[in-house]
Amino acid sequence: MAQSTRISHPPLSYDGRCIAVKQFFSGSHIRSSSLPNCTTPRQRLQDHLLRANATLTKEEPSTASTSGNGEHSNGAVANINWDELGFGIDHMAPMMYRATYHPSSGWEGGLEPYGPLQLEPSAQVLNYGQSVFEGMKAQRSAKGNIVLFRPDENAARMMAGAERLSMPPPPADVFLDAVLSTVRANAHYVPPRGKGSLYLRPLLLGTGPILGLGPAPSYSLVVYAAAVGAYFKTGQLTPIDLVVEERFHRAAPGGMGGTKAAGNYSPVLVVQLAAKKSGYADVVYLDAKTDTYLEEVSSCNIFTVKGNVIKTPPLAGTILPGVTRKSVIQLARQLGYEVQEANVTVTEAMEADEIFTTGTAVVVSAVGSLTHRGQKKQFGEPGKPTKTALRIYEALTALQQEAGEDPFGWIVPVA
Ligand SMILES: *Cc1c(COP(=O)(O)O)cnc(C)c1O
Repeated sequence: MAQSTRISHPPLSYDGRCIAVKQFFSGSHIRSSSLPNCTTPRQRLQDHLLRANATLTKEEPSTASTSGNGEHSNGAVANINWDELGFGIDHMAPMMYRATYHPSSGWEGGLEPYGPLQLEPSAQVLNYGQSVFEGMKAQRSAKGNIVLFRPDENAARMMAGAERLSMPPPPADVFLDAVLSTVRANAHYVPPRGKGSLYLRPLLLGTGPILGLGPAPSYSLVVYAAAVGAYFKTGQLTPIDLVVEERFHRAAPGGMGGTKAAGNYSPVLVVQLAAKKSGYADVVYLDAKTDTYLEEVSSCNIFTVKGNVIKTPPLAGTILPGVTRKSVIQLARQLGYEVQEANVTVTEAMEADEIFTTGTAVVVSAVGSLTHRGQKKQFGEPGKPTKTALRIYEALTALQQEAGEDPFGWIVPVA
């Protein structure tokens, strides 16, 4: 087993934990600026990168799929037909990262070949579902680097989700080490620029055995990766048709909708499949309390545009705090839009000039139509992306691919 960049981290002290992660449950409850003892994610990330770079030259993984010393020059790519890449597991990267947490020894882990996990049937995750995931992507940039987009945000979100599900939050440096080593070990699986990305899937699982309801005695942090194609093949946004969901809700106040808990995703499948059968790409969920306000799509956040005003539902615990959502809010303000995090009624959405959705995989997706109680509202010309969605998509993808300045400091070069 190829073990490299082995890390170990002392057991967590629950008292000393940084509570800034709580901001991810509800944007309104806690401001990170009011937490003096917290280093910012950016500081932690920079510290981490300094250390990671210092050890990288010493500890290169040697992988089964590469020859020589396993070091991939930036241009080296795997033997994949990049033009036929879809979004799936056809091109699973050969190396994964796995760390285990035991209360006595803390986090310990490293790289190993991609392969099955051994779990006892009594593993907590199989019985009671202690499981959160993340979704990120590494891309080749215009400057020739392999880059990540705001990985500190994913680290903080996983920590927040871990707390909600009574799991030990992997410290940001453990999470970032896991992600960076996975990307570096699979650098040849990062598609050429414009052809797609290396999609990264960090998992935090309660893998230890338990019978009565309770948290697992031990945990696994796994990061695997797959080469995936660009979401919009043509490079142009294809508008999607959405329908307002009237029977099911995605999340309830006080529930766990604000976390990327695995358990949030199976219940949406039946709804999504029914919508697809009726010709829609997906559904828009309404708030569970009043059935009045837009929440989000199965795995994307939602925005409306009316004149110069862009609105997106506020984070109150039921909506997933998307990294793309947060970035679009900042970017749109810089582009001169007035952005409001405020409740959006269905009626208001039906009268908007535009609607778009956001998420790591799609970046921005223009909504071509919204249907509510049989009434269909068309946005823009059929088949063509609306102008604000397109403008923000282009600005954000340019930024993510380092095709210009990075005024926000969002880009993290990995290799
Ligand atoms: C992951 C996810 C999003 C988008 O989050 P990003 O960080 O932008 O990828 C939005 N809604 C749900 C329900 C999600 O799971």
